[in-house]
Amino acid sequence: MDSQSSEVYINPHIAAMKPYVYGWQPPSVTGGSRQRENRNQDISQPMHTSRPELKLNANENPYPPSPRVAEVLTRLDTDRIALYPDAVCTALCRQIAAHHELRPEQVMVGNGSSELITFIFRAFMQPGDVVALPYPTFTLYHTAAAIQQVRFIDLPMDGDFRWNVHQPLPEEARLLVLVNPNAPTGRLLPLDELAGIIERFAGVVVIDEAYIDFADDPHVSAATLVGRYPNLIVLRTFSKSYSLCGARIGYALAAEEFIIAMMKCKDSYNVNGISQRMAEAAFSDQAHMRRNADRIRATRSRLSWQLEELGFQVLPSQTNFVLCRPPGGEAQELERYLAARGVYVRYFPQPRLEDKLRITVGTDAHMEEVIRLIAEWVL
Ligand SMILES: *Cc1c(COP(=O)(O)O)cnc(C)c1O
Repeated sequence: MDSQSSEVYINPHIAAMKPYVYGWQPPSVTGGSRQRENRNQDISQPMHTSRPELKLNANENPYPPSPRVAEVLTRLDTDRIALYPDAVCTALCRQIAAHHELRPEQVMVGNGSSELITFIFRAFMQPGDVVALPYPTFTLYHTAAAIQQVRFIDLPMDGDFRWNVHQPLPEEARLLVLVNPNAPTGRLLPLDELAGIIERFAGVVVIDEAYIDFADDPHVSAATLVGRYPNLIVLRTFSKSYSLCGARIGYALAAEEFIIAMMKCKDSYNVNGISQRMAEAAFSDQAHMRRNADRIRATRSRLSWQLEELGFQVLPSQTNFVLCRPPGGEAQELERYLAARGVYVRYFPQPRLEDKLRITVGTDAHMEEVIRLIAEWVL
């Protein structure tokens, strides 16, 4: 079989789809090798780097996780690796349920919230069904839809990337996805407006709260609505605010019937045991998470203000990143300039975003370095 003919063996919708595009991963992540290229990847690659890299393209947390996570790893009993992990994450679900004042039956843990997104499409959507989501938003939803042969309808936002919650929702949509606060815009929809949409929409509503811990107001989470609405699924992740991207842990909150349906769609042992222990430790230390989120919020304000001083348009952010438009809209040029100096930010070659960059909020020192380089570029 030559590679030319191999396409006939691949499911046509998989052959036709574009793969999800990751933020560029430097050699420090890939073990010294150049990242395996995604054939359809259309992002610029760094030219070379002679100094420490600054990875600000995947919204990772610049601070280490709670010291309790390190303790889990040092006390690890390697004999246990020979055994399967808890298939349903009993201890972690209990902990999460108690925190949100829900029952453990209303919680499901996944291998990152990305995996839970896949389960939502498997459990609720059939080929030809329609998902509606504001544009622009997190593109993994489009990938999940394409794999499941689900059509998506983009709901337009206004010039300021505000999404009008009162706009008519497409009748044929069986699923509505709202990333809140949204990525890559950083904007937050208020809780009362969310409740209104959930009441109005006849299908399933997913509210993806990957960035909710970075919102200024701590009382904006739709987690409090889960007991009230049977058609609501709230997604959270340990990746961003708990500094556990590498552990791959996320969770869903929903009515018990929905959780049962999603659990049927998973592989038997989808969440590894070490990550379960790490997540339990991180979740038990809410104060650590809060302190880091507060630091990131303070840095975010300073960064936004400094970018504006340099002539950038900056969208007000409720997340750990800012979406900004460099002077002249020369976003890709700036991305390349920074990458050549070992600083990786995210450029999206897609409508409405091609003149903007998404910059992850790092430490104050990281941001000083970024601002110094950007000032050089601007002047
Ligand atoms: C990062 C992110 C996720 C995925 O998080 P994982 O738990 O690491 O899979 C989900 N949704 C949004 C909007 C994100 O930005």
